[in-house]
Amino acid sequence: MTEPINLIGRRGLMLVLSSPSGAGKTSIAHRLLEEDSALEMSVSTTTRKRRPGEVEGKDYQFVDYESFCIMINNREFLEYAKVFGNYYGTPKGAVTKALEAGRDVLFDIDWQGTQQIADSKRDDLVSVFILPPSTRDLELRLSQRAQDSAEVVANRMARASDEISHYREYDYIVVNHVIDIAVASIKAILAAERLKRDRQVGLTDFVKKLRTSQ
Ligand code: 5GP
Repeated sequence: MTEPINLIGRRGLMLVLSSPSGAGKTSIAHRLLEEDSALEMSVSTTTRKRRPGEVEGKDYQFVDYESFCIMINNREFLEYAKVFGNYYGTPKGAVTKALEAGRDVLFDIDWQGTQQIADSKRDDLVSVFILPPSTRDLELRLSQRAQDSAEVVANRMARASDEISHYREYDYIVVNHVIDIAVASIKAILAAERLKRDRQVGLTDFVKKLRTSQ
């Protein structure tokens, strides 16, 4: 499904997905991007080392700590946070352009970043927290990820419950039991949020024309 033809003109929204590692958020994000042409991914900047298979500029912009600090000082980030010992941040430029052009931006960021966006840009934010169906499921998905060391996996498992405790700060909660249903649920959220009156910035003119051209 893509967005219905837009006759009115609207401001883009920021769709934030957060979850503990291993809840299937990355697969859900890929599906949403594939199936909805009005959605684009925000590419974060990070000081984390690139994992095998990750592409510079597509998965992340990989930088060293000094460059990240310069970007902080230059106020280049919409939000940034330290997650699992590395820094991650969302560069402002691309997001601002997309929103003004009426395109929606998908974010895969943690609860700290979501809180910062909620403080600065609440009206543009739609936040979704993805929960795994069970602890066993989470453990399985984390241990199947070959890319990280056992120590990193254990560390992430320990942090999952901490991460989950932030679910109340989100607008919507989706349990990822069956990915097709989780994706369909988020598409339904997106469809409704796009129709919110306040986002339809061309509405006044549109209605004016409707009323005067009779
Ligand atoms: P990973 O290293 O596995 O790619 O990501 C680790 C965590 O960092 C994930 O929870 C992800 O959502 C979060 N993350 C990725 N990019 C950003 C960002 O730009 N800002 C914040 N606050 N968190 C991010």
